[in-house]
Amino acid sequence: MTREMRDFYLRPEEEQQAFLEQTWCNECMEVDLGMKNPKEYEENGRVFIEGDCLKCGNPVVTEVVDGVDEEDDLEEF
Ligand SMILES: [Zn+2]
Repeated sequence: MTREMRDFYLRPEEEQQAFLEQTWCNECMEVDLGMKNPKEYEENGRVFIEGDCLKCGNPVVTEVVDGVDEEDDLEEF
């Protein structure tokens, strides 16, 4: 299984912020505690962002689900 590193900081700032805030920690059993030291990688065609829980410091992993046709995808005339 190969893991390919990607650059988290290439994402738009607001997207980075969202990923940093929207977390699930298995240790704390709580959502949205936040993470630090984010690292993005691709594994088996799926993209993950891994960081450290702001509360307990344990690793938290978020899978990136690329939304197609999000709400800001509006046609402009
Ligand atoms: Zn935690």
